[in-house]
Amino acid sequence: MAWQASQRGLEVAVIDDPTPSSSSRVAAGLVTPITGDRLALSWRWSEFYPVCKALYEYAQRSTATDFWHVAAAWRVFQSDPERERFFHRWWSEEGNREMKANGIALEPMPAEQLLPIHAPRGGFSMWPAGRLDTRAYLDATAKHFRSKDRWFPFQLDCDEDLELAPGHVRVPRLGLQGGKVVLCQGIAARTNRWFTELPLHPARGDILELATDASIPAVVHHEAWVVPVQSASEPNDHSRCRRILVGATYDRQCLDTSVDHSTARGFRNELLQRWNNMLSAANPSAGIHDPNDRDDLNGSYKFEVGVLGHLAAVRPASYDRHPLIGPHPTEPNLFCLNGLGSKGSLMAPQLANLLLDCMLENRIIEPALQWSRRGDKPRGSDDSQIKSHRSPKR
Ligand SMILES: Cc1cc2nc3c(=O)[nH]c(=O)nc-3n(C[C@H](O)[C@H](O)[C@H](O)COP(=O)(O)OP(=O)(O)OC[C@H]3O[C@@H](n4cnc5c(N)ncnc54)[C@H](O)[C@@H]3O)c2cc1C
Repeated sequence: MAWQASQRGLEVAVIDDPTPSSSSRVAAGLVTPITGDRLALSWRWSEFYPVCKALYEYAQRSTATDFWHVAAAWRVFQSDPERERFFHRWWSEEGNREMKANGIALEPMPAEQLLPIHAPRGGFSMWPAGRLDTRAYLDATAKHFRSKDRWFPFQLDCDEDLELAPGHVRVPRLGLQGGKVVLCQGIAARTNRWFTELPLHPARGDILELATDASIPAVVHHEAWVVPVQSASEPNDHSRCRRILVGATYDRQCLDTSVDHSTARGFRNELLQRWNNMLSAANPSAGIHDPNDRDDLNGSYKFEVGVLGHLAAVRPASYDRHPLIGPHPTEPNLFCLNGLGSKGSLMAPQLANLLLDCMLENRIIEPALQWSRRGDKPRGSDDSQIKSHRSPKR
């Protein structure tokens, strides 16, 4: 939001309590054209992708840092019907036309090409797929706005600290005055009075950082997704190991961010199990087991330990999985940008644009994005689908 506003020449102040367990800091930052069981094009891909790409490139140039990478990602078929769906949906004249129209390229990949990943049915590569290193992006953003005295690492009490009056907004505790304020609080939006009606339907996600001796050349979507973080050898005991991220779980019952309780250990084991299932039998030494979970191994360690980290956060998802943006019903200078769910990296830049159009030019936010579309029926049956199907979630 801050980058888009400053690109339009607006003066911006960013107030953020930079908690390490915010959804954005934990996220893998994947931007993927084909997602879900149906192998459908990601919602409004051709609208969102060019805007996010341009924004992250601009932010990289402005901060002289490197946090946005575009490359092909791999997806491995999980079943024969999924494989057939791919060829039926995309490997046809019409599929080809649709690829061209949306600026994507999908190529089937045989099992051998996907090694060391276990892929008896093969898979496909998709291009372009992006990855935003979200922590590096947020750190560079903070540094950039701090250098302009426009960064305030501060926990705002939105009920007490925000003074809204016709024509201006003030935050007396920080000595700030401006024309408008946008609350981009993720699930913390529930903790103050302004947008308590937001139809948020949060979902916890866990990811693991692992060291492995398997060489993973691309982002792979399998039973879980895996992201190679560093291909060079680590200067530590794991002399041949590479760092990878494996994720993510999706849970709507446990909504804290602790990784120490038994539910969290269950999520960790689930991810380790999925990672082990992803590896080809030809490469067994890449398997990793968690030293804290002796039960899993009947008391013996089969492979070298490689769990470097376990992180969890709560995604600010909505009931219908669409974003929640727009003005406050009675305070004309107050807006929200929320409901980014599992696709913040892809959607946020264009949503910020649409919100700026609304703030500056009084453009109407379309109903599919309007936060106050409470009339939309919560998809109760969705929850059971999410819990039962095993494809990875971002
Ligand atoms: C495990 C996991 C994996 C994910 N992977 C992906 C992925 O691969 N790709 C993708 O696009 N998305 C992914 N996501 C989702 C992504 O994280 C979210 O879509 C997005 O980051 C939400 O951003 P946000 O700014 O709305 O909320 P948040 O990231 O929660 O940020 C809100 C910020 O507001 C601050 N704040 C709130 N209230 C106050 C206050 N009163 N005063 C000061 N500061 C305040 C918080 O401290 C926080 O810094 C993933 C999420 C999880 C949990």
